[in-house]
Amino acid sequence: MKYSMIGTWKMAFDGIKLGENILKNNGNIKDAIDKAISLTEDNPSFNSVGFGSLPNIEGELEFDAAFMDGNDLSFGAICSVKNIKNPIKVAIALSKFKRNCYLSSIGAEKFAHINKFEFKNMLNDDCINRWKHEIKNNFDLDNLEAYDGHDTVCMIGLDSNKNMAVGVSTSGLFLKKAGRVGDSSVIGSGFYCDSLVGGAAATGVGEDIMKGCLSISIINRMKLKQDIQSSCEDAIKEHTERFNLSKYKAGSMSVIALDKNGNFGVATNRDEFPFVVTNEFSQTKILICKNNNSKMEIFEADEKWISNYKYD
Ligand code: ASP
Repeated sequence: MKYSMIGTWKMAFDGIKLGENILKNNGNIKDAIDKAISLTEDNPSFNSVGFGSLPNIEGELEFDAAFMDGNDLSFGAICSVKNIKNPIKVAIALSKFKRNCYLSSIGAEKFAHINKFEFKNMLNDDCINRWKHEIKNNFDLDNLEAYDGHDTVCMIGLDSNKNMAVGVSTSGLFLKKAGRVGDSSVIGSGFYCDSLVGGAAATGVGEDIMKGCLSISIINRMKLKQDIQSSCEDAIKEHTERFNLSKYKAGSMSVIALDKNGNFGVATNRDEFPFVVTNEFSQTKILICKNNNSKMEIFEADEKWISNYKYD
C-alpha cells in the first residue's frame, strides 16, 4: 500500500482525514501526525484530548504526549505538562534529540517555553463543570476507569516513502492524582514504531496497559511473523487472562497497529471500540471493533451508529 493511517476512537476522524490529504499528495508521515493530532487537541468538543479535556482531581489539566519515528527509532515524550496548546508538537520536537528526549512537568514546560511553543489556558467552562459535577460523587481513586468518552488519541501511519511514525496525546484518566502518568507517553507501553516491522499504540487504563507493555508486545509478535490482527488479539487476550489470575480485574484496554505494508490490526477487551482508518484504496472511515469472546469482528459504522454515538 502506498500510504495508510489509523487512529483511536471516533474523535480521530477529522485528523485522519487531514492526514489522508497530506499522504495522498506524497506528504510526510511526521507532518501528517503533527497536523492530525494538533487538530484533535485544538477541538474543544473532544472531551479527553487537548483544550477543554479531563481535569485531574485538583481540577487541573495535565497532559501526556509522545511521538516515535519508525525509521531511526527516535522518540520524544512529555508527561504531566500544563497549559501547552499542542503537546504533540513538543513531543515531536524532542524526538530530534538523542538524549533528554523524555521530559516531565516543569522541565518539559521550560523546554516548550524556550523553544517558543504556544501556551494557553487549556481549561474551559465545559471541562470545569464536568469536574465539579464528578467531584461531588463518590468515586474510587484506586479503581479509576478510562472515561467512557475516551481518553487518548493515538495515530499510526505509513507514507509513500515507506516512513512510519506514531503519535499519541491525552489528558490521561479523568480525576487522576496530580502528577500521575499513564502509559501514553511511555515507550513500549502506550506506543512503539519500527518502520521495518510496523507500529502499535494503546488506549485505556494506563496502569494496566503498562503491566503488559502492550505496544511492544504486539511489535514483538509481528517480528516473529505473526499476522497483525492475531498479534493484537493475542496481546490483549493473554494480558487480560493474566489479570484474571490475580486479585485485580483488568481495566479497559484497546490497541491499534499498522504493519510496514499498511495493513491494520485492532483489538479490545471492551465490548466495542471505534477507530478510524484511511489508505490508498479507501477514504477515511470509522470502523467498529466488536469483541466477541476475544475474537474481534470489524464492521463499518453506519449512519445510525454514528448518530447514536454520544462519546468523545
Ligand atoms: N491511557 C490513558 C491513561 O491511562 C487513558 C486512556 O487512553 O483512556 O492515561
